[in-house]
Amino acid sequence: MTTPKIRLIGRLQVDIAEIAAFLKDQNLEWRRTPGATIPEELVEVAGRICYMSFGSAQSPRTNRDFIMNLITQGHESVLEHASWTFLITNISRAFTHQLVRHRVGFAFSQLSQQYHDERDAEFVMPAHLESFPEAKEAWEKAIRTTLQAYSSINALLSQNGGPMSEDLEKRELTRAIRSAARSVLPNATETKIVMSANARALRHFFQVRGTIPGDIEMRLVAAELLSIVANEAPSIFLDFRIDHLLDGSPIIRRHRST
Ligand SMILES: Cc1cc2nc3c(=O)[nH]c(=O)nc-3n(C[C@H](O)[C@H](O)[C@H](O)COP(=O)(O)OP(=O)(O)OC[C@H]3O[C@@H](n4cnc5c(N)ncnc54)[C@H](O)[C@@H]3O)c2cc1C
Repeated sequence: MTTPKIRLIGRLQVDIAEIAAFLKDQNLEWRRTPGATIPEELVEVAGRICYMSFGSAQSPRTNRDFIMNLITQGHESVLEHASWTFLITNISRAFTHQLVRHRVGFAFSQLSQQYHDERDAEFVMPAHLESFPEAKEAWEKAIRTTLQAYSSINALLSQNGGPMSEDLEKRELTRAIRSAARSVLPNATETKIVMSANARALRHFFQVRGTIPGDIEMRLVAAELLSIVANEAPSIFLDFRIDHLLDGSPIIRRHRST
């Protein structure tokens, strides 16, 4: 497999009636922008609460202009209120090793190679190999060898757990065996990860990760994430766009003139 698959599995809910009730208590009204999405409205409300810019204090700015102004002013913490949860599959452990380095505004839950038997693992072939048949053949051969080694180690240790087998319960013995066997699995091993991220963290991710020409898998994931969230909350990601390199693969560019 070569193409990442991303499913949006979690979205925000916002209680507009409760916001209206709060404003009524304050004798204020909020002129909402028709067509603004739920995350966009939540960001706008959070920003407006900072200045209590409702009622007569509300300028004619649309939701889009309000959010772009927050970004231009560097008031980006407000964007942290918008968040999504994704299930990402068909991706390599090499890719997720880089992904999980992002510490702020992200949460991750990834397939365990200690609990999960990887004898039927799939592997993610770098897209770059597609045009190089000999390199692709070498890659496929290495994958076959590795899978055989994984299965052999698994079988040999399962037949005879060695000195540890007397001390460990079955579950922990399985963990020990799979830990030993997984050590031969390559960076290309396919994995699955659930990732939650807020809009500010995603914007940072798109800037530092979506723009690197040589990292194709990262660009594919970043561009797909951007197209999903730009559809969910266009105002928050208006200053990003997806271009394509000569090979047709996507790359993120940021423009500041919005
Ligand atoms: C081109 C490129 C090459 C890379 N090469 C390598 C490499 O060779 N080896 C390697 O180990 N990693 C490498 N990385 C990973 C990189 O060092 C970061 O770990 C990763 O990109 C996460 O970025 P981040 O820390 O900005 O993100 P996050 O962890 O999400 O942090 C977001 C932002 O919060 C702030 N922040 C977070 N934590 C702290 C803190 N403790 N103190 C102060 N401010 C903080 C910073 O402003 C940071 O940008 C590379 C990344 C890129 C983009």
